Parts: sequence; C-alpha cells; structure tokens
Amino acid sequence: MRDIVAPESARFRRFTEVFADVVGAAGYQQIIPPMMEDLGVFTRLGDATDIVTKEMYDFVDKGGRHVALRPEQTASVCRAYVEHRPLTPWKTWYSGPNFRYEKPQRGRYRQFDQVGIEVLGADDPYLDVEVIALAWEFYRRLGLRQVKLLVNSLGEPDDRARYVDALRSHFEAAGDALSEQSRETLNKNPLRVLDSKRREDAAIIAGAPTIDQFWSADAAAHFATVRAGLDDLEIPFDVDMRLVRGLDYYRRTTFEFQGGTLDSAQNALGGGGRYDGLVEDLGGPPTAGIGFALGIDRTLLACGDEGVFGAPDDSVDVFVVDTTGGREALLVTNELRAAGFTADRAFENRSMKAQMKAADRSGAGIALIVGSEELAGGTIAVRPLRQGGDQRVVPRDGYIALVQSLITGNS
Ligand code: AMP
Repeated sequence: MRDIVAPESARFRRFTEVFADVVGAAGYQQIIPPMMEDLGVFTRLGDATDIVTKEMYDFVDKGGRHVALRPEQTASVCRAYVEHRPLTPWKTWYSGPNFRYEKPQRGRYRQFDQVGIEVLGADDPYLDVEVIALAWEFYRRLGLRQVKLLVNSLGEPDDRARYVDALRSHFEAAGDALSEQSRETLNKNPLRVLDSKRREDAAIIAGAPTIDQFWSADAAAHFATVRAGLDDLEIPFDVDMRLVRGLDYYRRTTFEFQGGTLDSAQNALGGGGRYDGLVEDLGGPPTAGIGFALGIDRTLLACGDEGVFGAPDDSVDVFVVDTTGGREALLVTNELRAAGFTADRAFENRSMKAQMKAADRSGAGIALIVGSEELAGGTIAVRPLRQGGDQRVVPRDGYIALVQSLITGNS
C-alpha cells in the first residue's frame, strides 16, 4: 500500500472525473458501496478464485462478524441490487480502492483503485456493445492509442460446463507434462489453466479444444451481434478464445483491454463480461449482469508510457505577498477566491524575499504585493510573474479588474 501524493493524486482525481463524464453521458449513476462487506458476499465469487482463496483481507470485527475489505466491487453492487431492488436495467458506475493480498510489484499493489460500471437486469447483446464501447471511449478520452481489445464468449452455462469437461479431459491426458501449478489449477478450475504463462504448458494449451466448438446457437448468435455492433462503431478487436477471465460467474461475452506498452505479465488494463448467478446467490431473483473494472494504476502507467494524460496544472492564479503582518493577505486572498480566482499566500510574516520565492514556487502567474507603503496609501502592487510586463500599483479596490485582464491576456 502506498501514499498517492501530488501531482499523481491530481491525475487520479481527474481520471475519475473523466470516467464519470463518459459513463454519466450514457445514463450511468454512481454507487458508493461500503469498503467492507460480510465475507460471504465475496466467497460467493467462487472458491476457484485466487482473490477469494488467497488474497482476501478478512477478519472478525468487534461484534464477532466475519467481514472482508472488498477485493473488487461487482459483488458489492450485486449485493446492493438485492437490497434496494431498483428498476432495471440498473446502470451504475463506481470508483475507489480495493484490497488484495497480492505480491506487490510495478502496477500491482495491495490497495489499488478501479473505476467500473455494472448493468443489472438486461440481457441484450447491444448492451454488451455499449459497455465495451464506453471503456473504449474512456481510453480515447485519456488519449491512449495503444489499447488492444480482446473479446470472447464463454457460451451459456451449459456450453461452458461441457467445455470445462472437455478441457479437463484434455489436460488430464497431458498428465505430468503439465506444470505442477497447472495440475493444481486443473483440480479447481480447468478454465484457468488456459491463463498459465508457464513455458512447459504452452504447447498443451495450444492444442486444447476451443470454446467455439461448444457454443449453443443462442450463444453464437449473441456473440455475432456483439461483434457486428463493435464493427458498426468501428471499434477494433481480436477474438481470443483463450480469454476466460477469473470468476466462475462469467458467461457469454468476456473482454479485456491490454496496454501495448506494458509488460505482458501486467498488461491487462481492465476487463469484464457478463455474469449470471451472483445476484441470485446473494438472495435476489435470477438477474442478468454485465460490467467491467479498469485499474487506475496500470492505466496511468500506460498513459505515462504514451506521454498522454499528464498531471493537470494545479498551480494557483495569484500569490499574495504581504509584509505588513498577514491580515491584508487574508482579506485579499478571500476577495480573489470569492471573485473566482485561485489564490495562495505566505504565512508567518516572512521577508519579502522569502515570500517572492514562495510566489515563484507556487506557479502563480501574478503576485499581488502589499507592503507598508501600499497599506498606508490604500494601494496594491500587481506584478506579472510569467508573461513579463511591469509591476503596476493600483488602488486597493481596483486590482480585481487588472488581475482579470492579465489572466485573460487583454491588459
Ligand atoms: P480484475 O478485477 O482482477 O479483473 O482486474 C481488473 C483490473 O484492475 C486489472 O486489469 C488491473 O488493471 C487492475 N488490478 C487488479 N489487481 C490489481 C492490483 N493488485 N494492483 C493494481 N491494479 C490491479
């Protein structure tokens, strides 16, 4: 876990603002779920899932409840759906930290932020297209160009079950040729063996059956409509039959976004898909669901690599220097802020030189200076710091207009 300080914190904030803009424009409303839930909310994600079995921050609270810090937010959104029973389709977005006890490395932390959307209660391939397109638009708004979209369909739960059986037979036939880790994974979830990046598994995985052989007519038609919709929107994608993603709940459409500049082990910027059963398992009616989660950290790393979406300039417009004790700076900054400018000042009645240095460091374009002469004469000195131009002394009640004209460039 780490601190995120300025200017990185400003990037984080703006990231979420841009995301909120993009999904807000499509009718998604924010949900702010609690940071921790009853452990059971997350164990329903499945016991073949590392984030449940190995990475959960769970503990017993003072009331004897077994709770966990959320490792992701889809389960919380589904739990909230069961509790509030909103009208469907329920289109929500969220942002905030999740917690996973993972091995920390570049782009992987134990507390990490995601933004995401979930739609509950609509099973329409055009919704899949909308969801994918929103993530795509978001990357475009960040300025990222090297994003690759992979899509797949896991079929209906029955198709998927038959596929899992076929995979199990295929991998079992490989016997000891399969890595020990993959043999372990095989016992729990044969699909996840497809994710193995171990060299000894590569050939066996390459020869494995593919999901398309198991799609029902419905599932195949759904996926065909999704692909055609992406084509209609001119969103480029690759079909990747090995894309199975983590959770047991995924069905039909799954997708992932990869950053072209990132290491292949950490190149997933985000992903999502359709899921079934989660709402039902949490006590609600059978409900279709689809969503995605995008990691902020890795996406910002990708932005850095591509030289886009840098830290916003959060320097103030004006810095007030007051060598008469500080009360004038109090009044002037207050007036400036009320007039809509951003303004900072020095404290502790430091020397003129020290305050001018602080003004420079602040990045402000203008310094307003009040010394004993100005105070006595009812004036204030206005000094442009960046664009050049002379210092001007104006009446104390006339400086706002000058600041305005300097900032808009018509002085
Ligand atoms: P997941 O919820 O596992 O599907 O992850 C979705 C996205 O969240 C990934 O593609 C990453 O960008 C991000 N992510 C997942 N785990 C971490 C982590 N431990 N640290 C930073 N980002 C993460």
